[in-house]
Amino acid sequence: MSSSEKQQIVLASRPEGRPAPSNFRLERAAVPVPAEGQVLLKILYLSLDPYMRGRMSAAKSYSAPVEIGQVMEGGTVAEVLESRHPGFKAGDVVLSHSGWQSHALAHGDQLRKLDPAAAPLTTALGVLGMPGFTAYAGLLTIGQPKPGETVVVAAASGPVGSAVGQIARIKGARAVGIAGGPEKCAFVRETFGFDVVVDHRAPDLAAQLAAACPDGIDVYFENVGGKVWEAVFPLLNPFARIPVCGLVAQYNSSGDFEGPDRLPIVMRQVLSKSLTIRGFIQREFVAEQRPAFEREMAAWIASGAVKFKEDIVDGLDQAPEAFIGLLEGRNFGKLIVKI
Ligand code: NDP
Repeated sequence: MSSSEKQQIVLASRPEGRPAPSNFRLERAAVPVPAEGQVLLKILYLSLDPYMRGRMSAAKSYSAPVEIGQVMEGGTVAEVLESRHPGFKAGDVVLSHSGWQSHALAHGDQLRKLDPAAAPLTTALGVLGMPGFTAYAGLLTIGQPKPGETVVVAAASGPVGSAVGQIARIKGARAVGIAGGPEKCAFVRETFGFDVVVDHRAPDLAAQLAAACPDGIDVYFENVGGKVWEAVFPLLNPFARIPVCGLVAQYNSSGDFEGPDRLPIVMRQVLSKSLTIRGFIQREFVAEQRPAFEREMAAWIASGAVKFKEDIVDGLDQAPEAFIGLLEGRNFGKLIVKI
């Protein structure tokens, strides 16, 4: 790649079910020139997140899809190469939403400066960024854990789930994690300090979860859906709160979902147990809660009350395979591509 060329990964076709490498295409293009008010960015790190599966689909959702031939969307940490905006100069490091590419233009008003001395730059995409904020806002606003209560969360080794369990413990609750495989389960227990961790691949998941929650479940932070939800549902206590954050187990399903219609049973329990089931997209809480999150999370990290794990993959060309693996649990921690 010459200095006047950039690399970018575009959506080549829409996946049916599980994405394949052929749904993506690596392209070269000219490095663009900034106009007045813009900056030219060199991308350092790209965040890979489960929501990107939704952007690959044309189905109606809370955000517009990526069009065929467009650069895949995504959060990034970038260095300013050239600035035509008074707030930035070459060498500044910023948080941007520049997508799967090596260089990009951005308007200065859409960027947030990062201080490389304050925290590792990658944390702006993970524990101190969107996923950490999702855990904070969803758990504290909707889940509202109280001392002594039991909080359950799956995808517990990832950036959202790991923060949910650790914040629950800070609030005096008991954290029960669900993760895939013995290595992740041990890490969630030993490093993140969850009280108990259950492997969702175990054939007796429901029985293990019931044993892990002898007093039932007061808060279930829903990240995955599927058979984890089936195991959780009978254990919910009266007045349990269920922030519905994600359903990663079904992101690769297309069309109508198969299986028995359990809606009448679910609704009966919602009524008789006075359950609160509340979906959310993190950005609804940003204006009100982001400053408090940044303050509190930075303090928790500094004190060791919150720990984090990152899974950094090298090279933009590795992004498609890494993303496909994210939806199947092949990542171990916050998945980031070093460009
Ligand atoms: P993770 O890094 O935790 O990656 C996803 C994890 O999901 C995998 O590592 C895997 O972990 C787990 N998983 C995948 N398939 C299954 C399955 N069938 N059953 C159980 N677990 C499964 O992701 P994030 O922390 O970034 O995101 C977690 C959730 O939060 C996602 O659903 C995401 O869409 C959602 N989210 C929602 C936001 C919002 O605003 N509502 C914002 C950000 C994230 P394992 O190996 O342990 O199974």
